[in-house]
Amino acid sequence: MTNERQGTLIGIDVGGTKIEGVLTDGSGAVLATHRVPARPGDTQVVGDVVAVCRRLSDAPLPVGIGIPGQVDSERGVVRDIVNLGIVRLDLAEEVGAALGTPVRVENDVNAAALGAAAIVGEPVPAGQDFVFLNFGTGLAAGIVRDGRVAHGASGAIGEIGHIPVDPNGLPCPCGQHGCLETVASGGAVARLWPQGEPPMPDLLAKAAAGDAEAGRVLGMVVHAIGDTVQIVIQAYDPAVIAIGGGMAKTGRPLIDAIAAELDRRAAASHFLRTLDMPGRLRLLPADEPIGAIGAALAAKVLGQ
Ligand SMILES: [Zn+2]
Repeated sequence: MTNERQGTLIGIDVGGTKIEGVLTDGSGAVLATHRVPARPGDTQVVGDVVAVCRRLSDAPLPVGIGIPGQVDSERGVVRDIVNLGIVRLDLAEEVGAALGTPVRVENDVNAAALGAAAIVGEPVPAGQDFVFLNFGTGLAAGIVRDGRVAHGASGAIGEIGHIPVDPNGLPCPCGQHGCLETVASGGAVARLWPQGEPPMPDLLAKAAAGDAEAGRVLGMVVHAIGDTVQIVIQAYDPAVIAIGGGMAKTGRPLIDAIAAELDRRAAASHFLRTLDMPGRLRLLPADEPIGAIGAALAAKVLGQ
């Protein structure tokens, strides 16, 4: 159970329903895992994270935590996590005090981006970006630059889900209309195609079988995903874009549909052809604990 090998790290992915922990080496290879159900409340979240860490190792290893909501990574403070009943919590300080170890906290999508970069395992040249696109309940990107999470000036660097692309589009909880996230996210597809469980594979299958309504909805969704990928490529010009989140569990048929949309656009534009958009896409394996692995890798900065 204990592993005190040099460079060993603990990563914790705190979600709305579960807390998943991994023990990794410095490259993100998983040595042990442990998960518990998530319980709301500051005391419960801190206590559960500490318990998972202790279960993974009785040595005081660096700990990285990925968690949704607004995260101030420099101070280790998290805010406004509705599902967990957290308004403001000094997560790094409280977990660190209990374990006697340094703790790094990252936004969950940023942490997952580090994990995705490790899993994809393609070297990205210095100064170029690796982008993780999370098609989950919402839509957000995590950007890894030179092996580190990029945060931007205010921490909002990856909030691409709230780029408004259609002034006549659906209202978004953020107060705008026609945000990418209102169509290009797992949550949006579940609303637009409620008859499928899970919705995206059902939508693809019915559209392929000639169902006109499925074809219309799929066209809308794939167009918005195409917009998302194109915006990411034109804004960041990343070497690699990894597609993840719940919707990515659809697997190859989803990537094929996205690539077909990007090819369709490129056929009409010499400029887009030069960008080789489909060639940058990678599908992430569905069963890897990417968020927890990335959280562990985020803790590497603690030892530097
Ligand atoms: Zn929005």
